[in-house]
Amino acid sequence: MMDPTAVLHIDLAAIAANWRALAARAAPGAVAGVVKANAYGLGAARVAPALHAGGCRHFFVAHLSEGMALRAALGAGPMIAVLNGFAPGADEDAGLVPVLNSLGDVLAHAAAGRGTGQAQPALLHLDTGMARLGLDAGEQARLAADHALLAGLDLLYVMSHLACADEADHPLNAEQAARFTRACAVLPRRKRSFANSSGLFLGSDYASDLARPGCALYGINPTPGAPNPMRPVIRLEAPILQIRDIPAGASVGYGASFVAACPSRIATIAVGYADGYLRSLSGRGVAAYRDMILPMVGRVSMDLITLDVTEAPGLAPGDRVTLIGGAAPSPDDLAAQAGTIGYEILTSLGDRYRRDYGAG
Ligand SMILES: *Cc1c(COP(=O)(O)O)cnc(C)c1O
Repeated sequence: MMDPTAVLHIDLAAIAANWRALAARAAPGAVAGVVKANAYGLGAARVAPALHAGGCRHFFVAHLSEGMALRAALGAGPMIAVLNGFAPGADEDAGLVPVLNSLGDVLAHAAAGRGTGQAQPALLHLDTGMARLGLDAGEQARLAADHALLAGLDLLYVMSHLACADEADHPLNAEQAARFTRACAVLPRRKRSFANSSGLFLGSDYASDLARPGCALYGINPTPGAPNPMRPVIRLEAPILQIRDIPAGASVGYGASFVAACPSRIATIAVGYADGYLRSLSGRGVAAYRDMILPMVGRVSMDLITLDVTEAPGLAPGDRVTLIGGAAPSPDDLAAQAGTIGYEILTSLGDRYRRDYGAG
């Protein structure tokens, strides 16, 4: 029996090229790599070293545990900032940098810094319109009125995060930029970190001293509605397990949601919603064989999907079809069909796929 495992090709060279393109766009500002959530599902242990080899010296993760694993993978040197923060000392000398998301965070880390006599490196996060994390306007005013609260901290960057950067015309973009500029003006002068992927395409004043792109590195379009300026990164392919002929009137899969209108050939593939191929793609997904588009029929089930290959009579079990990327839909295309965003398609990619990091 053939190996039925689907293969997720992840093109590390394309990720590095995307980082270089963003770095050129952001110059003279620096560009970090956001590798939270296992590098958006693609594998931080491989992606981060590739970015580092390409020149990236600043990394962002969401969780302390992600930061610890990343330090082990990258060694000493690059900045690794933890967006959700952590308690003083919790990084056990791994040299991780907490993002301070509240005045309480500021006070705790400043006290720790004064206690050890060693200024604590940290990033200060100001909320300018997300109402999620970061010092709110009142906390910002308290800090502006008393800079001594920062004694004991080595603030590497003051950062903020855009809520609507993927909508270039949204008025909140300029409003957040103005609030950020005003807030920074009354704090000690420090480098700034502002743009995410889409923010880098809003204009040169958004890049700041350190941009924080994630999705664009992984091939997601940072300029929705306009052509994708990034190189595609992933391709998911899987072999056909079985092909069967069914008569007109026969149904396929759970709920008998597809009924063949004419005699049909049905191919079965070992990818399902447990692998992140969303069930909401039932009846809408397509696969590609070379340049031929094969419609998906019936429900996406946990471990399997079914394709109508009637128009491709030469196909046989073992032939490999492409489900994402190449001639098949991109992650952004799939997301549009499934009613979500490309980020969720990537971070849902399952760990039953064999990940292949060559140029796919
Ligand atoms: C996830 C995240 C980013 C990266 O955003 P993309 O849209 O993927 O470029 C940047 N900054 C913060 C605070 C984030 O949470």
